[in-house]
Amino acid sequence: MRVLRVLLLAPMILMMLPARGQVAVKSPTMLSPAVTRYVKVPAAEWIVLKNVRVIDGTGAPAIEKTDVVIHNGKIDSIGVAEKIAPGATVLELNGHTVFPGLVGMHDHMYNIARPNLNAAGSSEPPLMVPQLAFSSTHLYLGAGVTMRTTGSVEPYTDLNMRDAIDKGEIPGPHMDVTGPYLEGSKSVFIQMHKLRDAEDARATVDFWAKQGVTSFKAYMFITRAELKAAIDEAHRHGMKITGHLCAVTYPEAAELGIDNLEHGFFVNTQLDPGKQPDECPNTVGSPTLQKMTAGGEEAKAMIDLLVSHHVAVTSTLPVMEPDDATQVHIQPRVLETMAVPTREAYLYTRNLELMRAAANPEMAAQRAAMFKNGMALEREFVAAGGLLMAGPDPTGDGGVLPGYGDQREVELLVEAGFTPLEAIKIATLNGATFEGLANSIGSIAPGKNADLVVVGGDPSRKISDIENTEIVFKDGVGFDSQKLLESAKGRYGQY
Ligand SMILES: [Zn+2]
Repeated sequence: MRVLRVLLLAPMILMMLPARGQVAVKSPTMLSPAVTRYVKVPAAEWIVLKNVRVIDGTGAPAIEKTDVVIHNGKIDSIGVAEKIAPGATVLELNGHTVFPGLVGMHDHMYNIARPNLNAAGSSEPPLMVPQLAFSSTHLYLGAGVTMRTTGSVEPYTDLNMRDAIDKGEIPGPHMDVTGPYLEGSKSVFIQMHKLRDAEDARATVDFWAKQGVTSFKAYMFITRAELKAAIDEAHRHGMKITGHLCAVTYPEAAELGIDNLEHGFFVNTQLDPGKQPDECPNTVGSPTLQKMTAGGEEAKAMIDLLVSHHVAVTSTLPVMEPDDATQVHIQPRVLETMAVPTREAYLYTRNLELMRAAANPEMAAQRAAMFKNGMALEREFVAAGGLLMAGPDPTGDGGVLPGYGDQREVELLVEAGFTPLEAIKIATLNGATFEGLANSIGSIAPGKNADLVVVGGDPSRKISDIENTEIVFKDGVGFDSQKLLESAKGRYGQY
């Protein structure tokens, strides 16, 4: 019956296909054995999640002990199901909570590797960013993340991964593939193209838009002229562009028409001493963050400017979290997921950070105060009507890993002062809204994709319960979260 319906609908579906450049959530029709091995709840015409608590992602209060009915991969209803279709798959989920799949707006498929890094913290050039096509996809899906790659070092690999995932050939998240970093001439990364000028920026965007990427990311050394050309060209292709900036300040980027800024308010250089136009100061925004205290005139003016220009901001608190020994947040699961060389490098770096903090408590206190101020500016931005989104920037640095980092981001948003329900909205519906996907993902509502995370416990009361992932539904197929996460153990940093 289903096949017949599909045939009949073909022309209409064709009409609904996303315009080129538009981010899409494609559901595979067939799953290969490489994917089905991780399936816990196979696709079915009817699936009923019974007696479950629902956090719908809109910020609305949680609904206790109700039913979520899934019909052919889409959410059919939320509410106690009077009648259950014969043959339906029924999951008794008393004591569990379901919330929308996380929409990771600053996620990567690579990690950062420093050749021969030693315990004193020195390493040999070149700085590398190896692609991790296996462990990253398994960690994202295992943690229930749909993601934007936010700057690619192997764009063809990212594109092929997305397409293989969409065809059901490999397990993984829905992906918004961001083009290669649009980086200026002074880049420290040997795998990035160094833009020559504005025309090169325009041509690079045009080329990759035609290759199939669906968003763009500008990086630290890009100049105003190059950024302007990239923004105009991305918009000409109907795509959005974000930036982890430095040479260009936040107000300049907003005036140029950027759509999104990465790393909260941690990398704005407008008040950095000696800041020259189109130059990235080596203070990379810390003095500005120290001076621009939440509630102050300068902060208010900058935030009002971003809001009036509809610039969204991505909160990436996990990668900014100081290595404050009092806040030991290294989780055993994170260490166990790292490959041995990656774990060694992380522990060397962390040990040095702790030694520095112990040797210079004022500096440690200053960093902790800046982190708190960064958190307060994100709250102020939301209070002013700004669209805040979430993504951990997982590259291994700071112990931030795919999936686990996305959960840590939500926990830190709560530490920043948002309620658990607000934090989950920031990490789900807000990202989906920015991506133009709010009709299909980002919240739990009839007609939307059954992209859902089932956890033990109640994140609306204890946010760290979001870590207790058991089943991750993607397009209505229930994946075994722990099996996916287990499969990446000891592999992060290897492949
Ligand atoms: Zn990043």
